[in-house]
Amino acid sequence: MLPEKIHIKRDDTVIVLRGKEKGKTGKVLSINPEKKRAVIEKLNIIKRHTRVKRGERGSQEGGIVEKEASISTSNLSLVCPKCDRPSRTGNKKTEEGKKIRICKACNEMIE
Ligand SMILES: [Zn+2]
Repeated sequence: MLPEKIHIKRDDTVIVLRGKEKGKTGKVLSINPEKKRAVIEKLNIIKRHTRVKRGERGSQEGGIVEKEASISTSNLSLVCPKCDRPSRTGNKKTEEGKKIRICKACNEMIE
């Protein structure tokens, strides 16, 4: 079975539709197509406590690392760079036969 097409890709600007980050926008840092999840810059931050190791060379600093957690792509919508609105995208073929994405709101090509 072919993996379902994901409507967003790296470096897209997206808006979060649901969840605690609802209404916020950010840039897509990475996408996991198998899990259908994307990591968005500065969104859905989780804090990870790193372990404090004690031993041989004295105590090592433990701390909190902030990291973006992934968000389900079904909760994300692309923000059109042309009309600056959350938009649905459509696919279109150019005259050269190249597949492009277009914004259904303003009909501009998104790349
Ligand atoms: Zn648009």
